[in-house]
Amino acid sequence: MIDALPPLREIAQRHGLSARKSLGQNFLFDLNLAARIARAAGPLQGATIVEIGPGPGGLTRALLAQGAGRVIAVERDARCLPALAEIGACYPERLVIIEGDALEIDAAELVRRHGLAGPARICANLPYNIATVLLANWLKAEPWPSAFDRYVLMFQREVALRIVATPSERADYGRLGVLCGWRAKTRILFDVDPAAFTPAPKVVSSLVELVPNPAPLPCDARLLSRVTKAAFGRRRKMLRQSLKALSEPGLDIAALLAGAGVDATKRAEEVEVAGFVALARELERMASGER
Ligand code: SAM
Repeated sequence: MIDALPPLREIAQRHGLSARKSLGQNFLFDLNLAARIARAAGPLQGATIVEIGPGPGGLTRALLAQGAGRVIAVERDARCLPALAEIGACYPERLVIIEGDALEIDAAELVRRHGLAGPARICANLPYNIATVLLANWLKAEPWPSAFDRYVLMFQREVALRIVATPSERADYGRLGVLCGWRAKTRILFDVDPAAFTPAPKVVSSLVELVPNPAPLPCDARLLSRVTKAAFGRRRKMLRQSLKALSEPGLDIAALLAGAGVDATKRAEEVEVAGFVALARELERMASGER
């Protein structure tokens, strides 16, 4: 046992926490696995951890048991709050429970308000239905680097592969890989079998680590997003064709590609992150009328 609290299944049962699909609920009742995830986010002493979707609190307990200075847990499902309060009572002053929608909450603001002076991280077994939106929001944060020195997150394996993909893994490389590669160093730490969750999802999950790049190539995240949307929207077409979807009045696509130093006959899936950043910067320069 990692603490003196009852087993997670018992807690979930006592509080009537039947999993709801609409909330992306696949609970981890195995505290050893939770401890392995928490270790991946370590060292935890003095650190503030923002956990999205603590549910019945398996990972929350593991983070606290391993010494996290403070855990700020954001949970949308009010049914989970009494179970989380029991954990809080076991770890006085160390667990802050926020009831709310993680999509509407600024995680950095939570750290400013409730965090300790030490490093801050996000560690979570994410609700899969909003996982990529949450990650994209965190990676587009301004100013950069953000409040967090690491993100340790559970995704469906298929999404994890897209996060770490480069042009050499063409099938998986897309907008998410460009955004992640621009602002972070990414790697898959380990896979988790569906049977580890209740209910078991249909697919394997993977724990992913993202370490923010302190000095990413300068570029406007919104323009990078526009460029990758156009380019990957028709990923098999050459850029000189696919970038027409930028629909910027009067934009000379050939000049854009030449100015960015990107080969117009390449397809989106062949272009490195630096190429997309160059295109976003050139788009900004041309749109502002600079010559
Ligand atoms: N961390 C728990 C575990 O490992 O057993 C639960 C993980 S479960 C995959 C996802 C959790 O996110 C659920 O507890 C769910 O209620 C919560 N959740 C879903 N949507 C949310 C949202 N928009 N904001 C905050 N929490 C959310």
